[in-house]
Amino acid sequence: MRFFLFLFTPFLLNSQTDFTNQDSLRGTLNSNRTWWDVVKYEITLQPDFATKTIQGKNEILIKKTGIKSLLQLDLHKALSVDSIYLGSSKRMSFTRDNNIILIDLSKVEFTEEDFFKLIVYYSGKPKEAVKAPWDGGWIFTKDEKGRPWMTVACQELGASSWFPCKDHQSDESDYGAVITVIAPDSLVVVANGEFRESSYLDVNVSKLKATTWVVNNPINNYNIVPYIGKYVNFNEVYNGEKGFLKCNYWVLDYELEKAKMQFKEVPKMLKCFEYWFGPYPFYEDGYKIVQAPYLGMEHQSAIAYGNKFQNGYLGKSLSDSDYGLKWDFILVHESGHEWFGNSITSKDIADMWIHESFTNYSETIFTDCIYGVQAGNEYEIGLRHLIKNDKPIIGNYGVNDQGSGDMYYKGSNMVHIIRQLVNDDERFRQLLRGLNRTFYHRTVTSQDIEQYIIKFSNLDLTKLFDQYLRTTQIPLLEYKIENNQLLYHWVDCVQGFDLKIRLENGNWIFPSENWNILDQSINKIEDFKPDANFFIKLRKIL
Ligand SMILES: [Zn+2]
Repeated sequence: MRFFLFLFTPFLLNSQTDFTNQDSLRGTLNSNRTWWDVVKYEITLQPDFATKTIQGKNEILIKKTGIKSLLQLDLHKALSVDSIYLGSSKRMSFTRDNNIILIDLSKVEFTEEDFFKLIVYYSGKPKEAVKAPWDGGWIFTKDEKGRPWMTVACQELGASSWFPCKDHQSDESDYGAVITVIAPDSLVVVANGEFRESSYLDVNVSKLKATTWVVNNPINNYNIVPYIGKYVNFNEVYNGEKGFLKCNYWVLDYELEKAKMQFKEVPKMLKCFEYWFGPYPFYEDGYKIVQAPYLGMEHQSAIAYGNKFQNGYLGKSLSDSDYGLKWDFILVHESGHEWFGNSITSKDIADMWIHESFTNYSETIFTDCIYGVQAGNEYEIGLRHLIKNDKPIIGNYGVNDQGSGDMYYKGSNMVHIIRQLVNDDERFRQLLRGLNRTFYHRTVTSQDIEQYIIKFSNLDLTKLFDQYLRTTQIPLLEYKIENNQLLYHWVDCVQGFDLKIRLENGNWIFPSENWNILDQSINKIEDFKPDANFFIKLRKIL
């Protein structure tokens, strides 16, 4: 998610170089973060609708992987830390620098050699989202019938906006999470994973219920989400590649009939995605769609859905092609993220293209799967009008910086080029399945993904990746007729750019920066037609 930021902040996307110390503390794996690994988060949270505050506790189970010293936790300064305990009883002192908490563990004896638990009690008024999911924060709103509806969206802002954690994408909680929310019994709490239990805090006194959901698989911090509202449920079982998958749909009570109609697409979509990407990555946690008061977000095993039960992106096709109106954009896009983003996660958000380029391409895959290859191609080509070339797709490393929004449409067009170069859809499908098998539930770098694709395809795609991910230039193929011969070459490209291109007649050409001669007879310059599936620029020199 995050796409279409530019709808309301069109001038924001300048190349940012003025990073702060806080950006580095958040974005870098400094020595206060590398000696330990998050095993599990157990979050208990009580949001208060009237005051828009939260009160919480996070029990963080940690594995020691190096010499213990200072330990950095991240928590937005808007929230105060009430106390920190090591294990259940040893109260710890700590220092605070804006969004950073530092706890000195260097001289502390651990009862167990490798594992320890920190319990952080915290409270306050978390940042509220103004325009979720793009800016991020908590949402305290009301449904159409005036009843409280609360949730959070924090992909870019970070989960430390509402709970203390190691807020870096490289460290997922390996054994999942436990999410307990205390809320009035008139409301229903849904979160990631499986429902465990719901009970009154004190059956005689209180109308407050504690509801617990359990995530069994590793999960990114920003995917952890509670939803609190007047939800009702319907469900089905999908018979998939890894067995029976529980599909649960949670929507506001008055939207039930619309949702039942709209979500009929889900089994068909899961079938396409499993065929192309491999098994759904979180069978143990089930598949869920949860209605949200904002457009959408890929929350693992509990996708936020706010597309108003209609096809397209809020009823419009993002692509020039009308195929974008034939299916529900949020359903398809956010579900695609279960494979790319949630199962395969970038370590540094500078490499976020791994999430968004492939997920954007999952839209093309779905279109292709239902309507055929030509339809998929039309959908993909029709997205190019959204490419901005404002800055490179890969952002700055170590400072919590995402690259250009071109990670969506330009990134997926790059994937589409790779598909053309592989030139065998069965092989390309195996490449996508291989990526998901190899990097299943792992955090990765751009290099990991690039190297895998290069090795699998046996194509040297180094220059292709450099060109499309690391520059804003679109390669330009210039061509001309001289002495009755057609000549062509690459310009506006990285040094040594060597992308081969298929022509509409099925023949391949191998342009370089030097002029090459077409070794096919061609009568008119107009007959030189590169295949439109390659996202390049063309210039005819007369
Ligand atoms: Zn996305």
